[in-house]
Amino acid sequence: MTNQTEELWDKDLDSLPWVEVEAWQGTQVESFVSGLAHRSPFYAEKLGASRKSVKTIEALESLPLTTKSDLRIAQESPSEGESFGTIQGMPTSEIVQTVSSSGTSGRPVHYALTASDHARWNDGIANMFFTAGIRPADVIAHLTRLPMVGGGLPYADGLRKLGANVVWAGGMSTERTLETIKSLQATALTATVSFEVYLAEHCREVMGYEPSSLGLKKLIGGGEPGMGQPEIRAQISEAWGVTHLREAMGLSDVMAGMWAECGQGNGMHFCAQRHVAIELIDPDTENQIPWTEGATGEVVYTTFNREATPVLRFRSGDIVVVTDIACACSRTSPKIRCIGRSDDMLIYKAMNVFPSAIRDVILDEHSDHLSSHMRIWKEEIGQVKFDHPIPLEVEGNEDLEESEAQVLSERIEATVRMRLGVRVDVAVVATGTIPRTDYKTSLVQVRNPQTSKGTPYPDVQ
Ligand SMILES: [Zn+2]
Repeated sequence: MTNQTEELWDKDLDSLPWVEVEAWQGTQVESFVSGLAHRSPFYAEKLGASRKSVKTIEALESLPLTTKSDLRIAQESPSEGESFGTIQGMPTSEIVQTVSSSGTSGRPVHYALTASDHARWNDGIANMFFTAGIRPADVIAHLTRLPMVGGGLPYADGLRKLGANVVWAGGMSTERTLETIKSLQATALTATVSFEVYLAEHCREVMGYEPSSLGLKKLIGGGEPGMGQPEIRAQISEAWGVTHLREAMGLSDVMAGMWAECGQGNGMHFCAQRHVAIELIDPDTENQIPWTEGATGEVVYTTFNREATPVLRFRSGDIVVVTDIACACSRTSPKIRCIGRSDDMLIYKAMNVFPSAIRDVILDEHSDHLSSHMRIWKEEIGQVKFDHPIPLEVEGNEDLEESEAQVLSERIEATVRMRLGVRVDVAVVATGTIPRTDYKTSLVQVRNPQTSKGTPYPDVQ
């Protein structure tokens, strides 16, 4: 058998048996929890008068969970000089950077980093990119255009910590982005999955050359679940002529980069164990679930050494399946694949379904006739229930004849009904109809945002 072990970023923790990692984290969590109420008015209130002593990750289960909505409310009435609201755990003079959540699930929440927090983020994010195969010799095109989001400046800092040459080629015209990649001989690229698909199309159609001619060797994609989908992966891989394709993920609320695929693929390793503890819970009962292969649940995070805006048992809303717990690369952290978001869930006549599941089954059977772009229409942002078939637009590929669209839409409706037990109302539209964006493209879009209640920021653009 060939040796598949890989070089590690954190030589002490990355290959330590996971029970030992958790035991060490337990010692960190103890002092974190005991000090939290003194630093953060938000947690003083949440933890109440009974301050339990928590010495293990298992024992975290006895403490309350934190939701995004809790944090948003805590930030709504900032006090003079404390713009992060009651979650601010350090004086403003100690804060060196502000990070914004992407806002894809509501009005953005802002988080703060002290110099120590910044150093820890650099380390965790560097580990994520290192796990994804980026090395100091790489020239990496960083294509985010928003410095303030987690995938912006924090990714650039983590990559510099790793020692790669960061080429911030985002935020300029697409032509200039492509020319920059070409002239600087970039070896790697990091962007959202939608943008990698968009950029390849743009390269061919507007610039008139194959994206593979740019000579990129490594593609890191994240920000949305697409990279876990074999058809989207194959499409990106073929367009760019790149086999080194890795998925990566993080959360601004916790740490902007925490998960990445190693050379073995098949899900993302947790790479932030030096700074963040993770639990898997049943989203309904809120009970912990062991990290065993095949287990499904919601990931909950505790930032046990975060100073400025710490979170305790933060509910990510990300529903994941554990794909591996004994990877051949020698890393010991669990590997996961994101299968949806708990707040994404749609209900068709009492049947629960994730939008990503609809996309996945359609691409699984019909990708020969489709581009990978599709969108589900909600009438308003708060709509979860559908009494009629869920409206869905899918984009045909360039080879699809107009006369074939009706038959294809019926076949897709049958596929979704048979495999997921829900009905969709499919309209096949021409290639290029669904707008491409250079940040996260939401699979679910709102038809009448002006009549929607709640957030005025359905997405950050
Ligand atoms: Zn691995």
